[in-house]
Amino acid sequence: LNSDHPFWQIIRTVPDFPKIGIDFYDITPLLRSHINEVIDALLAVLPKGIMDEVDCLGAVEARGFVFASLLAGRLGKGMILLRKPGKLPPPVANKAYVLEYGKDTLEMQNNLPPERVLLVDDILATGGTLTTAYELCQSVNHTVVGALVLLDLVNLHGDFPVPVYTVLKA
Ligand code: IMP
Repeated sequence: LNSDHPFWQIIRTVPDFPKIGIDFYDITPLLRSHINEVIDALLAVLPKGIMDEVDCLGAVEARGFVFASLLAGRLGKGMILLRKPGKLPPPVANKAYVLEYGKDTLEMQNNLPPERVLLVDDILATGGTLTTAYELCQSVNHTVVGALVLLDLVNLHGDFPVPVYTVLKA
């Protein structure tokens, strides 16, 4: 675990948010002060050559959109969006899931040609969100190559079906 990474000085830990018993990692100060360094760090944890096997980034609403947008610019790749329900026009596929603190649904368009996708989000916690993103992509015939996150809370989730690339672990 990389507790000496300089980003930890900038991430705020908020106890009992959004519910009693949850330690919330607030990465928004990093977006304010070190966004380019965050994108550099995300690119640096990707295995060499992996982007030759990736057609596009699968961006998970909402902080995944921030990272994926900037990564897409650097990598010269496009994005497909995994969104909260009711935002994308039909035809869409959706999947409900249970979160660390509540319930949610992800939705994506299901009329797109099959692509090799690298999922992008900010934090992997229980894995509910990224697992749902993975299953939804596969269900509409995309192939998920891996997942890229800033922070992986390794003790909160089990094995993930594809490799997870992360800058920080806790
Ligand atoms: P999971 O589904 O439990 O893995 O949670 C991941 C989703 O919830 C991600 O989209 C995160 O943005 C959000 N999330 C979970 N824990 C935290 C946290 O400590 N800080 C900020 N966002 C979080």
